Amino acid sequence: MSDETIFTMDDGSVWRPASSRDVVSCTSCGNEVDTIEEINSYPDGFCPMCNSTWTGAEKRSTMVQVTMPESITGGAA
Ligand SMILES: [Zn+2]
Repeated sequence: MSDETIFTMDDGSVWRPASSRDVVSCTSCGNEVDTIEEINSYPDGFCPMCNSTWTGAEKRSTMVQVTMPESITGGAA
């Protein structure tokens, strides 16, 4: 992500804006998939944990990610 806005507070801390993402929970092992690649493969792909193909009955939800200091997520990319 290179187009996201970064906020800098008066005390110097850096924050990202809140964002949301889809999460799919595997019915076989309960693994929660939230990577872009895996979500995009749903429902044609398979669970990266137990290698079961998605059945279409997985619980799919949207997780809201709250703002957090840039220092925590800075190395994730
Ligand atoms: Zn699984």
